[in-house]
Amino acid sequence: MGLESDGRKTMSESKECPCGSGKEYVACCGRYIDGDLLPDTAEQLMRSRYTAYTLAREPYLQSTWHASTRPVELGVAVTDPVKWLGLEIRRTQAGGANDREGTVGFVARYKRDGKATRLHEVSRFVREDGRWLYVDGEFPQTGK
Ligand SMILES: [Zn+2]
Repeated sequence: MGLESDGRKTMSESKECPCGSGKEYVACCGRYIDGDLLPDTAEQLMRSRYTAYTLAREPYLQSTWHASTRPVELGVAVTDPVKWLGLEIRRTQAGGANDREGTVGFVARYKRDGKATRLHEVSRFVREDGRWLYVDGEFPQTGK
C-alpha cells in the first residue's frame, strides 16, 4: 500500500484537540501522536487513539494496538468516509500510571454516509514495557 503520509490530514498548531479535553492539540494528544511522549494512563491513550482516527494517523493507531489483536491494515486514511464528531469518556477502571491493565468506556459520535451514529465501547488496555496498548473492545447493549 502506498499510503504513507500522503493521505494524512494536517492540523493547525493552535487548534483544540479533537478528543474534547478542551486543551490545544499540541498540549494534549499531539504530544503522543506527533511527539515521543508515552501516555501515562489508559484514558490518555484512548483519547489519543480517538484523535488519531480523526486525523487518519494510521501508523499511530497501529503502534498503539496490541500485537495479538492488531489488524494488518486499517485503511482509515483513504477508504474511511467517517467524519468524527466527538468523544465522551464515560467510565474508567484502573488504567492508571501504576496499573498494568485498564478499561475505558466511552461514546464516540461519528457520521457515515450522512448518518450520525454513536459508538459505545468499553475498550481494554494493557501496559507492556511502560507502554499502554489497546487490546480489544466490548460493545455494551444500550438500555441494559
Ligand atoms: Zn486530546
